[in-house]
Amino acid sequence: MSEEFPYYGPFPSLSFLQRLVLQVRKCVFVEYRTPEGYSGSVPVYVVKCRRHGYYLDTPHGFNGYFSCRDCLAELHIKEAIQVKIGAQTC
Ligand SMILES: [Zn+2]
Repeated sequence: MSEEFPYYGPFPSLSFLQRLVLQVRKCVFVEYRTPEGYSGSVPVYVVKCRRHGYYLDTPHGFNGYFSCRDCLAELHIKEAIQVKIGAQTC
């Protein structure tokens, strides 16, 4: 993993309820984890990218958005940034 993108750990196995939420909201909270090189824990979500499938991320910025690193790498900026509106989305 590069320094830009922290490693959030292995992909979790999701409960039935989490899979349901993921299908409806395109993201679901998993648990708090401490990425490599971090001192504190962050909330980790499974997020669904329309192009690349599922990935792990933590909310970024004031609005708490997620960004698919593969979309960013391919410069699909609009698809990469998936805004979470407050606590409504996840
Ligand atoms: Zn993507």
